[in-house]
Order: sequence, then C-alpha cells, then structure tokens
Amino acid sequence: MLKAIVFDLDDTLYPERQYALSGFSAVADWAESSLGIPRERGYAELVAYFEDGVRGDTFNRWLEAHGIEPELWLPEMVKCYRDHSPSLEPYPETHSVLRSLRGRYRLGLITQGHGPGQQRKLEALGLEGTFEAVVILGEEHRQDWKPSQVPFERLLSELDLAGSQAAYIGDNVLKDFVGARRLGMLTIWVRRPEGEHVNDVPPGPEYLADIELPDLTALEGTLEATPQW
Ligand SMILES: [Mg+2]
Repeated sequence: MLKAIVFDLDDTLYPERQYALSGFSAVADWAESSLGIPRERGYAELVAYFEDGVRGDTFNRWLEAHGIEPELWLPEMVKCYRDHSPSLEPYPETHSVLRSLRGRYRLGLITQGHGPGQQRKLEALGLEGTFEAVVILGEEHRQDWKPSQVPFERLLSELDLAGSQAAYIGDNVLKDFVGARRLGMLTIWVRRPEGEHVNDVPPGPEYLADIELPDLTALEGTLEATPQW
C-alpha cells in the first residue's frame, strides 16, 4: 500500500524557466554595475540565449559576444546567478494538490543541483516545511545524482519505507524514474505540454514511468485508482 508520495522539484512543482529568468535578472543588475552594460540589454541578451535552447555555457557566450575574456568574470557571474534570491511561482495546482495529499500520505522531495540554491527555491515557493523528508544532492554529491538510485534509497530510509510503499513524481525521463523503478517505487511522469523535457527520448524502456499525466491535478485520483500498489 502506498504510504508516501515523493516529488522532484524543478519543472515538476514549478517551471524552472522562472528560476533562469530570475537569475538572469540578478546577473544583468551585476553586469550593469560591474561592466557598464545596460541591464535591460544584458537581460534581453541572456534571455535570448535561453530561448534559443542554450544551456550550460550561456555566460561564456555572452561574455565572448561582448569581447570580454570569460576567465575574468565568469566565476563572479556564476556566483551572482547561484546566490541570488529567486522570485518564483509554483504551478497553479501545486499547493492545493500537496495540501490535499498531505492528509493521506507522507510527503518527500528529492532534488539535485547547487545545494543552497535548491534550498532557496523551496523557500521562494513557500514549500519549506511541506515535506517530511527532503533529500537535496548538492554539487559535492554529483556522483549520486539521479538517475542513480542512491537518492531514492536515502529518502526511503529516512521514511523507513520499502520502495513499493512510495511513488515518485517527476518530469525528466532521463533521470527521474529508472532508479526509483529499480527500488520498486511507483513512478509518474508529469509531462506538461510546455515542459523543458517533454520530448526527451528515454535510452530504454526501464527509463519510462508507470503512469503519465499532463499536470498534477489528476494525481490524487490516479493514486487512488492504483490499488495494486
Ligand atoms: Mg525536474
């Protein structure tokens, strides 16, 4: 029987795009005061890279486009992005779904990235204190990041549950489900039409989730309708 519902954070409970835009805004402020580049121009340029699908080397490209050696300023730019206090809104249904589930299940969260940044996201979303167990894997635990099953083992052990007693809800077929499935967890892919990973192709069938939903609104009903779990 299902006892716990465990969530991914980015693009599952709020659109991660918001975090990128919020970070670019902070970086654009910094760039105006440190490099003299008008903030509106800097922001628009960074957003344009994002909209073009650039990920991971946005700041390098931006500095190079301005004729600035990335080695000089990149660390400061990255720090500014990571340390900023984000302005975020959850998906419209997130809070009500979590509130309703909370009366019936124990709730958990597994997320990975820059550790303090992931913590700040939870605070900005008003989700601090919502989850009984939270596993945040920071940069220093990169070897244990999903798709590893390690974060799932850690969370199940915190709740003292077997895999078959928990479900994992995520958005990314490359990372979110294969480890959870190996432990016997029920897996649910929230595949929003506008999602960052909506068209990712899983490397094999073991990467797929048991159930696919377009958002979180039908989650509770779906969980009720899976009595075999
Ligand atoms: Mg995600």
